[in-house]
Amino acid sequence: MQPAQQKGKVIIAGAGPGDPELITVKTVKALRQAEVILVDRLVSEEILKEYASPQAEIVYVGKQCRRPGTTPQATINELLVEYALLGKQVLRLKGGDVSIFSNVLDELQALVAHEIPYEIIPGITAALGAAAYAGIPLTARQHSTAVRFLTFYTYSKLTEEYWHELAQTEDTLVFYMSSERLNEVVEKLTRHGISEEKQLAVVEQATTPLQHVQVSSLYDYEQNLGGKTFVSPSLVIIGKVVALHEQFQWFTNNPSREHYFKPVSEQASLVLQ
Ligand code: SAH
Repeated sequence: MQPAQQKGKVIIAGAGPGDPELITVKTVKALRQAEVILVDRLVSEEILKEYASPQAEIVYVGKQCRRPGTTPQATINELLVEYALLGKQVLRLKGGDVSIFSNVLDELQALVAHEIPYEIIPGITAALGAAAYAGIPLTARQHSTAVRFLTFYTYSKLTEEYWHELAQTEDTLVFYMSSERLNEVVEKLTRHGISEEKQLAVVEQATTPLQHVQVSSLYDYEQNLGGKTFVSPSLVIIGKVVALHEQFQWFTNNPSREHYFKPVSEQASLVLQ
């Protein structure tokens, strides 16, 4: 590859959690101007249809736990660098917000190593989208004074001390990428004596027309939700605030098991130059 005279610029932006209208004006402008768009799996197709320039090259670089079609992070880093060195205006569009459970650090390091200029535009992270569309204010007065964003995915391991602290804290807990191991989360928290006042909400496909919220006490989890597989993506909120859902839910609950986001294997394959 022959590097262009002038390096392109990379804009790393969050596309929001699902509802295509939950995107910033700044990211819409970046979408209109981008020549190459590298897209995560959890970005609404509507956003690309509506705002990407028809001339833009769209490259799907989604990741999905243990699924074929997943793009390795090293490939994403290389693509970002290659397109920028060709002098292209590149948009790296991520689901939710760029700094929450995303590999933005790897991408920034690759850009800095090649002295490629960049900008970062925030987005609405899934926890905030789910909280709003499920009517669960995360730090509601007299319920909680703080919120933690956590993850407990395939390879995570947390110490018993840490679980104990999580069970005892008054903070609202939001677990990303954890629904496959939710039974373990519940088992640990109940074993460490989490209060019966705290409930759990699983929010599947938050902010999309297929959003589905299921609430259970942790101690009745086995009976209510045990053995269920949840539709991806889903997020788990735990705390006293979950009780507020019953009174303040406003968005239609859709129990359909259809998928809003396509699995990586069905997204268009990589376009390499
Ligand atoms: N950067 C993203 C998170 C990426 S990690 C953000 O800020 O939202 C991917 C995880 O995010 C999923 O496994 C799921 O737990 C959560 N997630 C993303 N979009 C979601 C949605 N629409 N509904 C529920 N959970 C979602």
